[in-house]
Amino acid sequence: MSKFKNQVHKEDLEEVSFLKKITTSHFNYWFGYVSNLSIVVFLCTRAFSGFTSLLTWFEWLYIPVAGLLLWTLVEYVMHKYAYHVIKGPAERGHMMHHDRPYDLMGVPWYVTLIIYVGVYYGLSYLLSPPHLAVYMAFIWLGYIGYCIVHHAIHHWKFNNKLFKKLKRHHYIHHARDNKNIGIVTTLWDHIFGTIEKS
Ligand SMILES: [Zn+2]
Ligand SMILES: [Zn+2]
Repeated sequence: MSKFKNQVHKEDLEEVSFLKKITTSHFNYWFGYVSNLSIVVFLCTRAFSGFTSLLTWFEWLYIPVAGLLLWTLVEYVMHKYAYHVIKGPAERGHMMHHDRPYDLMGVPWYVTLIIYVGVYYGLSYLLSPPHLAVYMAFIWLGYIGYCIVHHAIHHWKFNNKLFKKLKRHHYIHHARDNKNIGIVTTLWDHIFGTIEKS
């Protein structure tokens, strides 16, 4: 019996079938990339007044790096807690991925769009909007990178050493879901002691 069937109780099946409908459409999966890239472009435009950048060149250097780095930690924390510990739609959706790793499924694109842009507008009352926008744009670029790497791990074959390492790392996670939580990097698994080497 699959792991999925073990983890989902009967009373949850209705919610799962609803979740399945909205998360497994191919349109949702592929249009997610269009929507997510649009978020990145939209946020970057917030850093300009006309054609004039509101950030210095140095800020354009370190804020994107900081955003990408923060993504790797967000990815670890979200995967560990929102997908595996806290019971709810995100956890159930992720269990569907663990059960059928080759299926194309993703969070509904409009949910991420509304939440992320909403968070930007909320935080822009507290922080400098152009700096926040670039920071959040590159966090989101990290998210897109994660989507591509995770897709590649389950669907593509490359002879690249790093790619093979990430693939082995993630396949171990599919077998033992409290290990190897990171997808795009093994860094946080080393730091938090959840690494399991093949
Ligand atoms: Zn996976
Ligand atoms: Zn997982």
